[in-house]
Amino acid sequence: MKEQWIKDLSSIVNPQDFKIDEPLKNYTMTMLGGKADLFVMPSTEEEAAEVVKYAHQNNVPIFLLGNGSNMVIRDGGIRGIVLNFSKLDEIRIDGTIVYAQAGALIKDVSKAAAAKSLTGLEFSCGIPGSIGGAMAMNAGAYGGEINDVIVSCKVLTQEGKILDLSQEQLELGYRKSIIAQEGYYALSSIFELKKGDQVTIDETIADLTFKRESKQPLEYPSAGSVFKRPPGYFAGKLIQDSGMQGKGVGGAEVSTKHAGFIINKGDATATDYIDTIHMVQKAVKEKFGVDLETEVKIVGEDLPTDNK
Ligand SMILES: Cc1cc2nc3c(=O)[nH]c(=O)nc-3n(C[C@H](O)[C@H](O)[C@H](O)COP(=O)(O)OP(=O)(O)OC[C@H]3O[C@@H](n4cnc5c(N)ncnc54)[C@H](O)[C@@H]3O)c2cc1C
Repeated sequence: MKEQWIKDLSSIVNPQDFKIDEPLKNYTMTMLGGKADLFVMPSTEEEAAEVVKYAHQNNVPIFLLGNGSNMVIRDGGIRGIVLNFSKLDEIRIDGTIVYAQAGALIKDVSKAAAAKSLTGLEFSCGIPGSIGGAMAMNAGAYGGEINDVIVSCKVLTQEGKILDLSQEQLELGYRKSIIAQEGYYALSSIFELKKGDQVTIDETIADLTFKRESKQPLEYPSAGSVFKRPPGYFAGKLIQDSGMQGKGVGGAEVSTKHAGFIINKGDATATDYIDTIHMVQKAVKEKFGVDLETEVKIVGEDLPTDNK
């Protein structure tokens, strides 16, 4: 079956745009994850649509991996196609309107906007995701979120049809969107910013960068904040007060710098990371009766038992 997929995909994308049995740990910020049967990076939106249509018509499983900054991929990897839009990374600015393709990094878009004295995307200057991932997650930080500045987003449906969704139709909420809910594939976004004062914009970015670097364990691979904020609480504080910092399984550990982060000390497996997540959830539930829901997406297959 895989041989057939390879043959068929060769007529849709260039040979250099797809890889076979590609280790996904090279594409995730936790540096975890087994192999993708097929890792496909379309060079154009038309190719992306063709890949999605092909997968739909032939029942090939498909998973869209952005910049891998909010992902834990299990050690057995992902079957079928892993689609990645990193080659769709155009950023264009016209007056106060910013256009960005899904594979552009949001921090690059933030930087490009700041360079044109545009204000509104400063909050995202240190978020390590792609525009597509930020749209799906309604990424936010320091009081700002995608929903504040988005005008519209072009998406592909699972059948490969193109839709143009307005801000309202995107139904952006706390770390959620219609994109994630319906399994759409974001292709590009349009943001509207405001003309701002260059000095203030630069100072805000410097201040947020300082806050992030001083509070987050950026020297280690991680998926950022692992848990969503439970209503009425802060996940990090609950974890800290449960005495979980510095604890973990195998090479994974609850950061001593930021309790909401679980780091890969270098030799963690995805199983270690996921077991550490469960350990934290159990400790917080026992101590405070609060259920911590994961913000990170956990996908893929475990290794077969005899391979563990
Ligand atoms: C050090 C660190 C700090 C972080 N700080 C923040 C923060 O301040 N605020 C915040 O909100 N997040 C933060 N994150 C989490 C992460 O950067 C965001 O959630 C980001 O939006 C994920 O984007 P991504 O491209 O990496 O997506 P991935 O991690 O690759 O994917 C996440 C989800 O989005 C989906 N997805 C990806 N691309 C698309 C697309 N084109 N169309 C549809 N769905 C898509 C994936 O299928 C998956 O379900 C941080 C992470 C790290 C490692």
